[in-house]
Amino acid sequence: MKEIVYKNIKNIDKIVFGTGSFDQLEDIIKPKRLLNNKFFVFLVDDFFKGKYLEKRIPSQGEDIVEFIYCGKEEPKTGQIDILRDKILASKGLPSGVVGIGGGSIMDIAKALSVMFTQEGSSVLYQGLNLAKNPGIYHVGVPTISGTGAECSTTAVLTGPTKKLGIKCEYTPFDQIVLDPELTLTVPKNQWFYTGMDSYIHCIESESGRLYNTFSKAYGDQSLVLCREVFLGDNSGQTMENGEKLMVASLFGGLSLSYSEVGICHALSYGLSYVLGSRHGIANCIAFNVLEDYYPQGVKEFREMINKHHIDLPINLSKDWTNEQLTKMAEISYALSHMWDHALGVNWKEKVSIEMIIKLFKRM
Ligand code: NAD
Ligand code: ZN
Repeated sequence: MKEIVYKNIKNIDKIVFGTGSFDQLEDIIKPKRLLNNKFFVFLVDDFFKGKYLEKRIPSQGEDIVEFIYCGKEEPKTGQIDILRDKILASKGLPSGVVGIGGGSIMDIAKALSVMFTQEGSSVLYQGLNLAKNPGIYHVGVPTISGTGAECSTTAVLTGPTKKLGIKCEYTPFDQIVLDPELTLTVPKNQWFYTGMDSYIHCIESESGRLYNTFSKAYGDQSLVLCREVFLGDNSGQTMENGEKLMVASLFGGLSLSYSEVGICHALSYGLSYVLGSRHGIANCIAFNVLEDYYPQGVKEFREMINKHHIDLPINLSKDWTNEQLTKMAEISYALSHMWDHALGVNWKEKVSIEMIIKLFKRM
């Protein structure tokens, strides 16, 4: 009989949590300022350009502040390669990287910190444990809650042939700064779609064969918080709920770190790859057709949609070509670890490209 090998997960080293904690950032990174070529790179979501937060970024001296537009596409391997080469050519190896933004910026910061010390393109490192050298010090400051990217071991990138993370022990942040106040400006639909990522992570984590006590403890608490934020008497985008959703996102991510996502994420990756749909909304579009697999979760999700008057796009597939549908299904099918978790080791007996296309046609 095959011996079971339990995952040995690398986690975030340090966490600070609380309203206004962003202003501790300089004190936190100060001891690292002497590393390498003695400058920091701040990767900041373009939304904050010209806003009050920009003035609070503790950049100094030779530091680089790079504003990145995240409103359209998800992070790309080419984008990471260009950024790395540009910075290395101009100033050499930074002391550290600080990412300030949503899941996109979290992934860019994680990928960049690893890629600073690897040879060649980031395409070569999309997969499990492919990086050869430790990356540089990196800090995550999330400004939207839901993805769990602040704690996950993966930096999701879309490359020429696949959407797949750089996943290794060097990827997780050395430090995260969880300041719920930074999330208050997120537009309502985005707040909902990204928040639902956390809810769906927990539903998928608990609905599969890899679920266990560790995942359950974090997932249960994340679900309690998500329900308060999206269904409770005081639901909505308040300061108090901002705190709750930030912790829900972290715990949802931790639940996943010892379990796995499932069918919704497999379909969602197909949508994102072919249509460029953003992760949060793509998940919601996919989850809405999965009542056969996650009946309770989908029912509750629809209650949340109704309560917050979210216009979830429907009837989208009428505009998709057969080639697009086939490509989406192929991308989804290839995510074997998700199907395996959701449907068991014999998942190939239950899943085919045709069956996945049928699901896409319902979107
Ligand atoms: P995002 O980072 O893509 O940002 C979405 C939008 O919100 C952007 O227009 C951005 O400018 C805006 N925004 C960000 N913070 C804001 C604020 N405080 N106020 C106003 N606007 C703000 O959104 P996301 O949903 O957090 O991240 C999605 C990305 O995360 C995808 O690329 C997905 O692949 C990735 N992801 C990664 C993991 C992981 O484990 N690494 C998990 C899930 C998703
Ligand atoms: Zn997700």
